[in-house]
Amino acid sequence: MSRKGTRSDRKLIAMERISILFSKAEDFFSWNQEYSHHCVRSARLIAMKERVKIPPRLKGKYCRKCNSFLVSGVTGRVRIYRGRVIITCLNCGSHRRIPTGRSKKSNGKEKN
Ligand SMILES: [Zn+2]
Repeated sequence: MSRKGTRSDRKLIAMERISILFSKAEDFFSWNQEYSHHCVRSARLIAMKERVKIPPRLKGKYCRKCNSFLVSGVTGRVRIYRGRVIITCLNCGSHRRIPTGRSKKSNGKEKN
């Protein structure tokens, strides 16, 4: 037994580190965007290494393509279209659709 902790321990720790990294990214964003992007990259690396999933609540916060940390109005654009959230990365232009499963009345209206 040379490994520290069990596999599920490691996963729990990985999940914790991922959420810490994302909150750091949020904190640092206003004065160091590069650092925020770096946090996203690290979080994704941890997720890959430990084979854990990035929590759904964090999925809209980064760009899958270029690993940018997305902040609405700064590095990303968030739109609601036909009950779906469409997030556009302003850095590389890639889109991402996230079904909200909520009311269908928000067609075409921007949420702020
Ligand atoms: Zn991007």
